[in-house]
Amino acid sequence: MITLSPTRQHFSATASSRLHRGAWLGVVLVVLWLGFIAYLEMNLVQGAVAIVPNHLLMAAPMAVGVAVLAFMLSRANGSLAEQNGKLARAERAAARLAAELETVLQSITELLVVTDQDGRVVRVNQAFATQAGEGLLNLGREGVQQSGSSSVTREDGAVIPRGEFPHERALAGETVENETIVAHREGAQVYYLVSASPIRDPETGQVSGAVTLMRDISSLKRLERLKDEFLYTVSHELRTPLAVIRGYAELSLSSADHPADETSSLALRRILAEVDQMSGLLEQMLQIARLDAGRMPIDAAEVDLAQLTAAELNVLSITPEYARVVLNLEEGTRRLICRLDRVAYRQVLGNLLSNALKYSPAKSPVVVRISAVKDQAVVSVSDCGSGIPEDELLLIFEKFYRARNAVNSGNIGLGLGLYITGRLVDLLSGRIWVESTLGHGSTFHVAFPLVLA
Ligand code: ADP
Repeated sequence: MITLSPTRQHFSATASSRLHRGAWLGVVLVVLWLGFIAYLEMNLVQGAVAIVPNHLLMAAPMAVGVAVLAFMLSRANGSLAEQNGKLARAERAAARLAAELETVLQSITELLVVTDQDGRVVRVNQAFATQAGEGLLNLGREGVQQSGSSSVTREDGAVIPRGEFPHERALAGETVENETIVAHREGAQVYYLVSASPIRDPETGQVSGAVTLMRDISSLKRLERLKDEFLYTVSHELRTPLAVIRGYAELSLSSADHPADETSSLALRRILAEVDQMSGLLEQMLQIARLDAGRMPIDAAEVDLAQLTAAELNVLSITPEYARVVLNLEEGTRRLICRLDRVAYRQVLGNLLSNALKYSPAKSPVVVRISAVKDQAVVSVSDCGSGIPEDELLLIFEKFYRARNAVNSGNIGLGLGLYITGRLVDLLSGRIWVESTLGHGSTFHVAFPLVLA
């Protein structure tokens, strides 16, 4: 806490009493002077009569001047004292604020680093200094100062290039939110969730530094890995018994498939349908586990998107439900070369089509349109189905998310298909987005960069 110095505290009172004394002294002197002039006049000192009027004339404005001066000085001193009081209060408030801020900074459990505009560390909080020890402090400083350091990478293992560290991006004016970086030290990996913001000069608006917050999420990551491994193992292990159930159900169905045994036949068909559904869900879970573990093989090659799409639709059209899918090739899209993994692309298209069929009335058309927009090939899948509420348009790409109208519709699903689709599109360097009007249908667009000749 900052306190006022005794000099500052007593200045106002001392100066004020001096000024008051000075003003009174001035008044007394003027009175004495006037008395002296009157005495001369009364005693008819020689030449005094000629002198008196002049002195009286001079003395009057002098007296007024001294009085005004004394009054003004007294007023100025009063306002000075008031300003001084305000300043003292402001200083106390600032000191209190600084102490509060310091306590807040020190009690933040996240690791906090403040850097100046040249990227030099100017402040770290207690958590940064003690939570991970001196080693982390050095690592943080190295990471911050030597941005090309290979000891800090992104989550996918890619080294963060110079200028791309969160604090450096903040120094360039960007606000970085919740990005994961990995610190590699002595064979161990520490995961941090990092956010960074620029500090701006309040007057010029220029960036004068950056504040970076890092949260150690290694234990969360470990749990996540365990959960993924568990899901992967369970899904994998359930495949075999499901295949056996399917096999026996099919076998029994072929022998029980006669009019005398209608109930058994119905039951076996039901078993087969349920097994198919379970297999689909298990397949999705396995795929998510592979994607999350970075074990999704991508074998990209140059393909003609229009041709590949047409071929895939041809294969799917064997299934009666897909008979309502129509391909619409825009003019000039006969040859659109992109670098894609065929299997992954087929899955993207398959997921979008099965959703379009699932969430639209039977027999209504589903249109696949292929177009070229600038240097991108765009595949759009449109339906005239239930549509998606506007506030859920972005959420449906999240894991396990289902829009409320889909949940109420009775359509079965886990909310994993679009999450997988989005992740696959990312792996193919593409982009996915949706346009939809509730009750009137949806169009999902997927864009891939064209390979320019
Ligand atoms: P689900 O298994 O529920 O179909 P998805 O991940 O494939 O999971 O889709 C997530 C959600 O997105 C769906 O539950 C649904 O609410 C919405 N959705 C996806 N495609 C469509 C579509 N063509 N029309 C309407 N809603 C859709």
